[in-house]
Amino acid sequence: MIGAESFWSDGHQELFPCEVCGRCFAADVLARHGPICRKVFNKKRTPFNSLKQRLQGTDIPTVKKAPQSKSQPVKKSNWRQQHEDFINAIQSAKQCMLAIKKGQPLPPPPAPTINPDYIQCPYCMRRFNETAAKRHINFCKDQSSRRVFDPAQTAARLAARAQSNSSHTFESFPSVL
Ligand SMILES: [Zn+2]
Ligand SMILES: [Zn+2]
Repeated sequence: MIGAESFWSDGHQELFPCEVCGRCFAADVLARHGPICRKVFNKKRTPFNSLKQRLQGTDIPTVKKAPQSKSQPVKKSNWRQQHEDFINAIQSAKQCMLAIKKGQPLPPPPAPTINPDYIQCPYCMRRFNETAAKRHINFCKDQSSRRVFDPAQTAARLAARAQSNSSHTFESFPSVL
């Protein structure tokens, strides 16, 4: 106790406050005291924290937010189903075209996998609800019977349309300007 008293009254010693406990010490004493005090203070104060920090192997308890990309398996399966349906539609369309070419009766439309309530048009493979499907399929049937699968005729019609399109464009150009 006497030593402490004489220490404090010693005018030659400049005192520095301990960062941890706030008590004042001379520089050389603080140099010894600091690490010990910090150690003790940490032990007392944050036993769990220090343990955790040791386990993590880092001094700074930074909040590491691992960016988790939210993958949605539901969407994926839906995509797969749509894809399968798409493949089915293409295959049945091919069969349909083949049947039309050969003059055979059309194959039945593929079983719908996405919307069971919807009816697929066997001609264009689009889906419609019941009322729309009735109207559409009649229309589409008519269209597809008129829509020729004769390559020569189709080509001729395409050529004619292209010609009329291009001539139309050329004619309309000056009027636009
Ligand atoms: Zn201290
Ligand atoms: Zn159709």
